[in-house]
Amino acid sequence: MARPHRLTLVGRSRDGAGGPGAHRVVIVGGGFAGLFAARALRDPTIAVTLVDRAQHHLFQPLLYQVATGILSEGQIAAPLRDVLKRHRTVDCVLADVVDVDPQACTVVAERPNGERLTLAYDDLIVAAGVRQSYFGHDEFARYALGMKTIADALAIRRRVFGAFELAETATDPDEQRRWLTFAVVGAGPTGVELAGQIRELATRTLRREFHRIRPEDARVLLFDAGKAPLASFGPALSAKAAAGLHALGVELHLGSVVTGVDARGIDVRDGTGATQRYPAGTVLWAAGVEAPPIAKALADATGAPRDRAGRIEVEPDLTVPGHPEISVIGDLMSRDHLPGVAEVAMQAGMYAGRRIRHRSAGRPVRPFRYHDLGSAAYLSRGNAVVSAGPLKFGGFAGWLAWLVLHLAFLTGYRNRVGAVLTWAAAFARDARRERTFTTQEIETLRDVYDDAAEPAEHAKEGRP
Ligand SMILES: Cc1cc2nc3c(=O)[nH]c(=O)nc-3n(C[C@H](O)[C@H](O)[C@H](O)COP(=O)(O)OP(=O)(O)OC[C@H]3O[C@@H](n4cnc5c(N)ncnc54)[C@H](O)[C@@H]3O)c2cc1C
Repeated sequence: MARPHRLTLVGRSRDGAGGPGAHRVVIVGGGFAGLFAARALRDPTIAVTLVDRAQHHLFQPLLYQVATGILSEGQIAAPLRDVLKRHRTVDCVLADVVDVDPQACTVVAERPNGERLTLAYDDLIVAAGVRQSYFGHDEFARYALGMKTIADALAIRRRVFGAFELAETATDPDEQRRWLTFAVVGAGPTGVELAGQIRELATRTLRREFHRIRPEDARVLLFDAGKAPLASFGPALSAKAAAGLHALGVELHLGSVVTGVDARGIDVRDGTGATQRYPAGTVLWAAGVEAPPIAKALADATGAPRDRAGRIEVEPDLTVPGHPEISVIGDLMSRDHLPGVAEVAMQAGMYAGRRIRHRSAGRPVRPFRYHDLGSAAYLSRGNAVVSAGPLKFGGFAGWLAWLVLHLAFLTGYRNRVGAVLTWAAAFARDARRERTFTTQEIETLRDVYDDAAEPAEHAKEGRP
């Protein structure tokens, strides 16, 4: 529960940089959009406060590799303070933004220990991303894990590797088969990558490690309501993806709508209208996104329109209608049907930062224009598909392009070197070194902060 104590920060900056009277910019979210906006706001007259509820910048496109034991969380996430340490006018604040008051030009944020902050701004950039959508069936979330955060990827790792362990000791053949069945919902890039990786780890990495089960017997079922996997890549690459998945042994179920999920499996309605039950020990959800609650709070406060997924519809300069001081960027913005991809978020972040700098210097600002540099999806080792303008290719050339693209955008030198070494080991020797998981949640974070705020009983009594 939130504590009543309120602390007000007013556009502070490190070492007093920015100075009193500096232009105060608050950025909500340190993902691709927020980070690139903060970098573009490098200016001694601008004091930036970057608020994120996580302490790190996360490279979401590689979450599936954390989930399936290839990379560690530190290889795809870098502390925001570290990434921005040379930006002396940027202050990083760990807090969850819960409300916006456009009249007072403030945002309200809640810290992990329950404290509330009020942050004043001259310009506000909201870059809070999106969250998993269960299309009105939030009850599925308990059994069908989504993948948006480090915590999600580690939870999936626990469930995937844990399923093989439970299959090994199951005495009932049906139960063993259920543990060895993995259902993935959504055949976009995330679902395709997850499905392919589970089959690859079953057929390669785990092949010789178990005594009672054959990990390569694991079934991976990939469901999608549409007609093709990776539909956004166009028919030619979709066909390549379908062939690649087939070669890996992934069972593709297209035209299939998930109607129920519980602890023991899923119910799916196929194209004929018939519903079938699939027992499965692990269900993973990669089928859609929606705006987080902060988007509703912003829309309620400003009257901003929202699209069907709840994202804020922005003007050509990425601001909220009637509020040139509030920008919404990245996955959370809705504009010209731009896709929710990292490249859009990065370009929007750079634009929003530059726009604020130009506007405060009285210079004219052009509308935002997105330059599509293409996209890539990983199928299996040595096989990826790439779509870049008229260029569409797959196979090993696609995999090389995928590798270069991901290395170029991985944040931090150490992460890049670490990732290359790890990929080399995974590629050459089927080694997945990041398979550690625990079977119990450790939920002490809030307790730790509570203890610091209120002396523990034994300390009050003078005991050591
Ligand atoms: C599994 C997965 C795979 C993907 N693969 C690809 C790919 O291959 N290629 C590609 O181009 N794109 C891919 N994407 C999409 C890409 O990652 C997103 O488009 C991009 O991250 C969007 O950037 P963003 O800054 O808008 O949001 P995010 O990166 O989601 O960042 C939002 C930030 O805001 C913070 N935040 C949220 N709410 C609050 C709040 N209330 N208060 C404070 N902080 C808050 C979050 O902690 C987070 O740090 C993938 C996404 C996922 C989930």
